[in-house]
Amino acid sequence: MSLKILKHFSRSFSFRLNLWYASIFSVSALALFAFLYFRVAAGIEHKDREILDARVKEYSAIYQTAGVQGLRAWLSRAEETQRQRSLFVRVLNRFDDVAFMTVPDQWVELRTRGYDLLGNRRLSAWIRVPRDEERDFTVATTPLFDGSVLQVGRSTNSRETLLYPMRRVFFTVMIPMLLLGIAGGALFAHRAMQPVREIVGTAQSIIATGRLEARVPVRNTEDELDDLAKLFNRLLDTNHALIKSMRESLDNVAHDLRTPLTRLRSVAESALQDRADDPRSAEALADCIEEADRVQTILATLMDVAEAESGAIKLKREKTDICQLLRDVVELYEYIAEEKQIELTCDCAEPFEIPIDATRMRRVFANLLDNAIKYTPAGGKVKFVASQHETEALVKLIDTGMGIPTEEQNRIWERLFRGDRSRTERGLGLGLSLVKAIVEAHGGKVTVTSEVGEGSTFTVTLPKAT
Ligand code: ADP
Repeated sequence: MSLKILKHFSRSFSFRLNLWYASIFSVSALALFAFLYFRVAAGIEHKDREILDARVKEYSAIYQTAGVQGLRAWLSRAEETQRQRSLFVRVLNRFDDVAFMTVPDQWVELRTRGYDLLGNRRLSAWIRVPRDEERDFTVATTPLFDGSVLQVGRSTNSRETLLYPMRRVFFTVMIPMLLLGIAGGALFAHRAMQPVREIVGTAQSIIATGRLEARVPVRNTEDELDDLAKLFNRLLDTNHALIKSMRESLDNVAHDLRTPLTRLRSVAESALQDRADDPRSAEALADCIEEADRVQTILATLMDVAEAESGAIKLKREKTDICQLLRDVVELYEYIAEEKQIELTCDCAEPFEIPIDATRMRRVFANLLDNAIKYTPAGGKVKFVASQHETEALVKLIDTGMGIPTEEQNRIWERLFRGDRSRTERGLGLGLSLVKAIVEAHGGKVTVTSEVGEGSTFTVTLPKAT
């Protein structure tokens, strides 16, 4: 279950928005830091080289005028100052022999194993040799006028002294900053998607309940999502008005057709009496009467649905034993069920009374039972189960029939809707709309759960008080 939620969450638009936001945020922070870091590192290196360049120029000038001895004398004088003592100076003659060398104290370790690294004649090259894990040094090499080479080196661990805290600050600041970015992004994405969630919620509630009155709350923020919500509401208004006018037209047509149809039927009836001697005319007239009866039933049911839905229905509520009512309905269908070899039972051990219009509710359960028997193949089972709870009574009708496909489950309550696989059976497609209208007029509700090939369960919930 939690895996499902996680999967759904990871596919949600807010999550992806947040992921993008957090990624862009971290990449930009990383890029900014890298840029700063390398700028600072390059700046320090540049400074180091500048210092060494100045020394190299100074010492080669001294060498040129006073030779090795002059340079040695000058350096030993200068060594008294702290700055000079930290410099490595070496003169290699043209045979790569060391003519003169002074090494700072910290470079002791290097004397034994590393000098040759500097000994090659890469003239004017910069060589940086790591001395240990933490410190390194830079050496400037330059040719002298007589073919010798002057090398001046300087420990450059000051670079690390500056860069190390920078790296530390980055990691200690970056992680909380990233977490903050993700949390901020999640909040931002959640808030930004709220209007979209409301639109989805409204659409879902209309599909689930069929209540066309539901609308998306409008915030009047005048932004794009607010416009979308308003447009969506306008679309719903238009749909609602269209459906309402279609229903009204259907009701009006039903109403208007009733009188001519009744007249047609009585004309056919009297003609049938007059032409009883002519078998062909009599048969044709009998067919007319039969068809007129069928259409009259459709019109009457349509009118009943319209009356119940509009709230104009006058219910004759009286305390009725629901178990007895169900047993009456079962008795009515016992013969048909037996003929179809369907096991029909009623599970209602404890009788209880609720205030209902018994005639209309009998029609409700009869319609449901009629469908259950109609859509259950021979050898199946159909069962009423009634129970009472604190404030409501529940009646379930369970069958082991053909079931209703998920995509049809919301549509079966519509007027004149017939399932694709039900067309071979008799029916008008009006039974369930009447059931729904009557149950809702009682303040109750009717729902269905069904699985194709397994069966269906219709549940009628009725309030125990009016
Ligand atoms: P109909 O006259 O077609 O039975 P209804 O309004 O009573 O009209 O039912 C609408 C549709 O719902 C039916 O056409 C059928 O597809 C489906 N249906 C209703 N009850 C059942 C049931 N118990 N089992 C399977 N399908 C059912």
